Amino acid sequence: MKRRKAVQLLGASMMATPLPKASFVFIKKEKLGVALVGLGNYATNMLAPSLQETQYCYLAGIVTGTPKKARTWKEKYDIPQKNIYNYDTFDQIADNPEIDIVYVVLPNFMHAEYTIRAFEAGKHVICEKPMGMNAAECQQMIAAQQKSGKLLQIGYRLFYEPHHLAVKAIGANERWGKVKMMESSLGFRMGRPDSWRMKKAEGGGGAIMDLGVYCIQAARRMVGENPIQVTAKGYVDDKQLFKETYETVLFQMEFPNGTLCNASTSFNAYVDRFHTAYEEGWLELKPAFNGGQQPILHGSKNIKISINGNTYQTTAQMDAFVQNIWNKEAPTASGEEGLMDMQIIDAIKASIAESRTVEVKYS
Ligand code: NAD
Repeated sequence: MKRRKAVQLLGASMMATPLPKASFVFIKKEKLGVALVGLGNYATNMLAPSLQETQYCYLAGIVTGTPKKARTWKEKYDIPQKNIYNYDTFDQIADNPEIDIVYVVLPNFMHAEYTIRAFEAGKHVICEKPMGMNAAECQQMIAAQQKSGKLLQIGYRLFYEPHHLAVKAIGANERWGKVKMMESSLGFRMGRPDSWRMKKAEGGGGAIMDLGVYCIQAARRMVGENPIQVTAKGYVDDKQLFKETYETVLFQMEFPNGTLCNASTSFNAYVDRFHTAYEEGWLELKPAFNGGQQPILHGSKNIKISINGNTYQTTAQMDAFVQNIWNKEAPTASGEEGLMDMQIIDAIKASIAESRTVEVKYS
C-alpha cells in the first residue's frame, strides 16, 4: 500500500517561493501521536511494542499514576516529559497537539469516564474491550463521541486479523450449505484472585465480561446477523476463589436465520476455539482468540490456512484507525459494535439472573 506523505510546511522546494501573507496551509502529519492511558499488562506487552511497528501512528505520550513507570517508559520509549500525564493532569492533554489519539487501557469500570473525558479534551479515542460496564454506559460514550466530532474505535484487534477475516469471507459464501451451528469458547485460569477482573464493581462480572465479546463477535461475523435471544447459566465450582463473579458462564445464542451458537467463557479452564458446523462441512479456528498466538484455520476437505500477519494483532487495528481518521470514515470496530456486544452481554446476565431465555434489545 502506498504510504501517505506528509505535506511539508516549509519544505525545501517551498523555501524558494514565499507564501502569500494570508494563506492557510493544511499540515497533515505523517504519523498520529497515541497516548496510552493505564500502563498495565496489555499496554506494556502488546500496545507499546506494537506502536513501534505501526506505520501511521506512534507512541507519543502516556498517562500513569505510578511515577516509577513514568520514568521507565520515558527512558525506554524516548517520550518527552511534556507528554507524560497522571490521572490528576489527564485533562490537560487537551492542550497538547502531539497527542491525536487517547488509547484507554484501564480496568473496565474506568472505560466510560476516561473515554468521555478524552472526547471532551478534543481527542480521537480507542477504548479497550469490553466497551463499558453495560449498554447504558456505551450509549453515553457514543453520545460524547458524536458531540465531539471525533472518532471512536473499540480495541477489537480481531476485526483486523487475517484468519478471522478469512472466516468471515468463507462464511459469507456459504461454502458447505447453510451454517447450522457454531461453538465459540474462550477461557483460561485466572491466577490472580486479587485482580480487578475478579471484582464485580471493577470488572463487571468476571469471564463473561472479559472474554464474552470474542465468542459473541466471531459468531456475529460468521452469520452476518445479530442474535435475537440468549439462554445462559453461570457456575461457581471453586467457591474460595470466585466470591463475586461466576467462574464459568455457558450461553446459547439464537440468530434470526435459525443458526445456533453454543458458547462458553471461563476463568478457571483453558479453551480457545471457534467451530462452525455447516450442513455439509465444518470450519474451525483453533487457537482462535487469544492475542499471544497466531490463529490457525482448518476445516473440511483438508483446508488449513496459516497467514503470516504482523507480529502484534494490534498493529493492523491501530493503523486502520488512523486511516479512518484521515478518510473521515467510521471505524469497522466502532462504538456501535461495542454497544451491540454489551447489549448481548446484558441479556446474558439477565438470563442467568432470571433463569430464562431473554430477548436481546438493540436500540
Ligand atoms: P492490568 O490490570 O494489567 O492494567 C490496568 C492498569 O490500569 C494498571 O496499570 C493499573 O495501575 C491502572 N489503573 C489505574 N487506575 C486503576 C484503578 N483504580 N484500579 C486498578 N487499576 C488501575 O489490566 P490489563 O490486562 O492491561 O487490561 C486493561 C484493559 O485492557 C482491560 O479493559 C482489558 O479488558 C483490556 N485488554 C484487552 C485485551 C485485548 O486483547 N484486546 C487484552 C488484555 C486486556
